[in-house]
Amino acid sequence: MSTFKKTPFTVNVRDLLHKPGEMREHDFDIPSPDKLGEGLVSVPAGEPLHVDVRLESVHEGILVSADITAEASGECSRCLRDIVQPVEVEFQELFAYSSGEAFDYEVHDDHVDLEPLIRDAVVLSLPFQPVCTPDCPGLDPVTGERLADHPATPAPVAIDPRWSALAGLAASEDTDTEGK
Ligand SMILES: [Zn+2]
Repeated sequence: MSTFKKTPFTVNVRDLLHKPGEMREHDFDIPSPDKLGEGLVSVPAGEPLHVDVRLESVHEGILVSADITAEASGECSRCLRDIVQPVEVEFQELFAYSSGEAFDYEVHDDHVDLEPLIRDAVVLSLPFQPVCTPDCPGLDPVTGERLADHPATPAPVAIDPRWSALAGLAASEDTDTEGK
């Protein structure tokens, strides 16, 4: 008997075996089996992983193309605010009929197991230094407060580049009038 174990990540491909040219697509949600990622943001256990997959029968095996979407949560690397970030990642991999040095994955009986590929793709897509906004000013080095929360600092919105020169001018005027 085969020791192959079916999980929510295994997909039956019986109808595609040895039928080059045949193709099938489907999408499904799988709760993340455990926490994915060890960094500042990760996909929590139980968070749905939405998988869009295309299975193509080719001469050597089953070609799997998948898009994964999920939500990662954690904290901003600059201001430590809680953040939620979308994860969108894709991969394409051949599951070969016969195991060989040329192929990392193979068809088990009439199934393919997408779990290691989905795990790796999601984990590798997570940023090392996630930020709440691209221009997050981080923490005040003196007070440790979030600069974005400081009343004198506007919320971190994108500044129109046409105005940034004026903003710089205003700042230097302030310095001049305050100079002793
Ligand atoms: Zn931040």
